[in-house]
Amino acid sequence: ALQAQRLSRTQSGNQKLYFHNEFPGSCDASALSLEAHLQQALQKDEFFLVYQPQQHLAGGHISGVEALLRWQHASRGVISPVEFIPLLEETGLIVEVGDWVIQDACRQLAEWNRAGMDLRMSINLSAVQFTQPGFAKHIMAHVVSHGLTPSQLELEITESAAMRRPEHTLEILLELKELGFYLAIDDFGTGHSSYDYLLRFPIDTLKIDRSFTKGITQGRASRAIIRSLTTLSQGLGFRTVAEGVETQRQRDYLEALDVDEIQGFLLARPMAASHFASFMRNTSIRTRPTFPGVAALV
Ligand code: C2E
Ligand code: MG
Ligand code: MG
Ligand code: MG
Repeated sequence: ALQAQRLSRTQSGNQKLYFHNEFPGSCDASALSLEAHLQQALQKDEFFLVYQPQQHLAGGHISGVEALLRWQHASRGVISPVEFIPLLEETGLIVEVGDWVIQDACRQLAEWNRAGMDLRMSINLSAVQFTQPGFAKHIMAHVVSHGLTPSQLELEITESAAMRRPEHTLEILLELKELGFYLAIDDFGTGHSSYDYLLRFPIDTLKIDRSFTKGITQGRASRAIIRSLTTLSQGLGFRTVAEGVETQRQRDYLEALDVDEIQGFLLARPMAASHFASFMRNTSIRTRPTFPGVAALV
C-alpha cells in the first residue's frame, strides 16, 4: 500500500494528492494502484468506447446507440466502468475522461452519419462532470466542431445523480434543453425522484433500470412494479426505454406494456464500433423503418 501511495503521489502531478484512507471504497493496495494507473490511462490511449443499440419496438428499427466506456488495462485486461468510474469521480479525473468520451462519441457519430446511418447517440454523464461551470457551452462546442446537431445526442444522467442537488441539476438541464439536446434519466426507479422534479426537469426519456426488467419473470409483485414505472413514465409523456432486456419473454411483456424502446443482450451486447457497422449491415434492422409496420428481424 505504501508503494502504491508513493506511486499515486509521484504520478499525480498538479492533482490533489489522495491517500487511501480518505476513500472508503479504495482502501486496499490494488484499488490504489488502479487509481495510479487511471491517471495515465488517458495519455496511454487505454480508454475506448463500445456501443449498444436500442430498438424501437413498434417500428422495429434501431433508433440509437449508447456509448459505454471501457478501459483496456495493460495487465488486467478490459475493466468495467462500474469498477473505475467511482475512482474517476473521487479523483476528479472524470472531467477529463468524460470530455474524451464526448469527443470520441461525436467523432464516431459523425463517421456513421457519413456512412448513411441515421442514429441517436446516448452519452452517460457523471454528476461531477455536468456540474462543471460552463458544461453546456463546452459540450455544444464539441458537437458543433464535429458537424453535428445537439438533437442527435441524448445525454443520460442517473436518477441518483440528478437528485443529489436537484435545483442545480434543473438549472443545467434547462440550459442543455435550450440548446436542443435530448435528455434522459438513467437507472430510473433505483434513486429517489420526487414527482415534483420529474415534472420540472425538461427530460425526454426515462430509462427503466434493468433490475425491473429482470423482475418481469420474478412473479406478480415484481411485474406490478415495472407496470407502474412504465405507466408513470407514459403518463408524464416521456419516451420509455427498458434496459437489460435479455429474453424474448421480457421483450413480449414490455411490448404489451407499450414500452417505446428496448436495450439489452437479447438485441445485442455492447460492441466495438467496427462490429456495429457489420451488425447494421448483417441484420435486416434498419435505422429507420422503410414503411410503418415493417417488422424487425429479432
Ligand atoms: P448504464 O448507463 O445503465 O448502462 C447500461 C449497462 O447495462 C451497461 O453496463 C451495459 O453493458 C449493461 N447491459 C446492457 N444490456 C444488458 C443486459 O441485457 N443484461 C445485463 N446484465 N446488463 C446489460 P456497463 O457498460 O458495465 O456500464 C455500467 C455503468 O457505467 C453504466 O450504466 C453507466 O452508468 C456507467 N458508464 C458507462 N460508460 C460511462 C461513461 O462514459 N461515463 C459515465 N459517467 N458513466 C458511464
Ligand atoms: Mg446509460
Ligand atoms: Mg442504466
Ligand atoms: Mg446502470
